Amino acid sequence: MPVPSSGFLSLGLSDKLTATLTALGYEEPTPVQREAIPLMLAQHDLLAQAATGTGKTAAFALPIIQLIGGDAAAGPRSKERTALTVKAMVLVPTRELAMQVSEAIHKYARGTGLCVVPLYGGSSMQQQIRSLERGADVVVATPGRALDHLRRKTMNLDAVRVLVLDEADEMLDMGFAEDIETILDETPDTRQTALFSATMPARILKIAERHLQKPRRLAIAREKTAAGKMPRVRQVAYIVRRSEKPAALDRILEMEDPASAIVFCRTRLEVDTLTETLNAHGYRAEALHGGMEQRQRDAVMNRVRAGKADLLIATDVAARGLDIEQITHIVNYDVPAAPESYVHRIGRTGRAGRAGTAITLAEPREHRLLRSIEQLTKQKIDVATVPTVADLKARRLEVTRASIRERLLAGDLDDVRGVVQALANEFDLFDVAAAAIKMLDATTDADAEIETEIEKEPARPSRGSGLSSPVRLFIGAGRKAKIGPGDLVGAITGEAGVTAKSVGAIEIGDNFSIVEVSEDVADDVIRAMKGASLRGKKVTVRRDRDPRQA
Ligand code: ADP
Ligand code: MG
Repeated sequence: MPVPSSGFLSLGLSDKLTATLTALGYEEPTPVQREAIPLMLAQHDLLAQAATGTGKTAAFALPIIQLIGGDAAAGPRSKERTALTVKAMVLVPTRELAMQVSEAIHKYARGTGLCVVPLYGGSSMQQQIRSLERGADVVVATPGRALDHLRRKTMNLDAVRVLVLDEADEMLDMGFAEDIETILDETPDTRQTALFSATMPARILKIAERHLQKPRRLAIAREKTAAGKMPRVRQVAYIVRRSEKPAALDRILEMEDPASAIVFCRTRLEVDTLTETLNAHGYRAEALHGGMEQRQRDAVMNRVRAGKADLLIATDVAARGLDIEQITHIVNYDVPAAPESYVHRIGRTGRAGRAGTAITLAEPREHRLLRSIEQLTKQKIDVATVPTVADLKARRLEVTRASIRERLLAGDLDDVRGVVQALANEFDLFDVAAAAIKMLDATTDADAEIETEIEKEPARPSRGSGLSSPVRLFIGAGRKAKIGPGDLVGAITGEAGVTAKSVGAIEIGDNFSIVEVSEDVADDVIRAMKGASLRGKKVTVRRDRDPRQA
């Protein structure tokens, strides 16, 4: 086994950057990184072609950081920054990419004091100007917004040493060719220029001919996956006792936070039971199994494809041949008895070079089954421990940190600056920020005691509600948001204009509530509550899925 990240060191990257990459879990450079990084560090112009998802961002971001002085010894370099003058610029086609690439550079530049600023339309110009005035080492900009700043003279490219065009084909397709030429003309001829693209149409070569000097070219062939070969999927197994599986799954799902996932069960009954449990825990889970009519199954798949469900809970047979785009996680609620069916299942994620994760919950005695799967696939399944409450807390804080950062990058904070100012007169700014984070964290602090919640479940109104045709409504806020029955009745009668007589049994869980209302007012209540807020927050309101129809 190679020493982790030795691959990055041998490309000429500093110890510091290599250590950061190891900490991020990057073990080896990807092919485009292996080729591009040494060329960029040697300050060659570069024309690089590689498919989406092959790690092009790091291929230019790491050399930029090293070249413009993100070296460990120098420490924070704010004193060297000159207002409005940038040292490196990355042009990207869209606002989303501007945020994503700048976030990536920030992550790679951890501890170097290097300052990266995203510039894109639709966020406050004033905020961006303030950031530029403070001095930005790297800007990541859409061409349109970069031009805006150049025209207003709020950005100066005279000192640019490295310029990267990311997703160059996309930028040309979006009609940015002229803007790009104008921006390039504002930078010194001595700059280093690199162009990254998934495809290399003639129009790109023309730009390269005009603006790149003796460029090195590299093209990474798409990796061919042999027929029947396994996709690149992170494979993890958790050893848990049967009775602990629901709680373990809750924690794992919270930790992994899948964008879309399929959970495989062995039996129809298990599919139904698990779907109900997960829905009661606030997920939007849909069941799919062979016991359902085709019409029902189509309806489920439509909801899944439309993004109206977070989780699809399915048996092997029902999910056979399903083609769902962008499944990020496959969960095996049990180890499949046949290793082939494991291969089948996890083939549904990690498609088209995207990252995928396969999670398996195995009972202690099923360890042996895992081994035989490893033998068949010739791939290792890592055995991990179920996240602890402390792990989840750390993860939530990390999410809070990331969303605060996103909020900062998005700017547009002028309306609340007054509050900060007022508090700053009395308190240390650091403490003010810490208090704000604490409050934010408290509102997102879900499921701290998952086991107890599972014991409470099924927390469904069991006694008669007194309503002749009751409908259960799911409301996405509960005890943790300090919701009491009075809040719910008050909001429903106040907002929807129905009388308290139309409201039946109320059940308040930690993170959600179930309220029974009369069928004839259900739609009015949902409509009214959608526009309203509970305890100052917008909440989800919908009909609760009837567990008997699962
Ligand atoms: P591209 O720009 O080529 O489409 P990205 O730069 O967005 O691809 O990278 C795709 C994903 O791969 C990102 O999540 C990134 O963090 C990850 N990644 C990049 N390089 C490596 C590496 N050497 N090891 C592991 N993951 C990597
Ligand atoms: Mg990219």
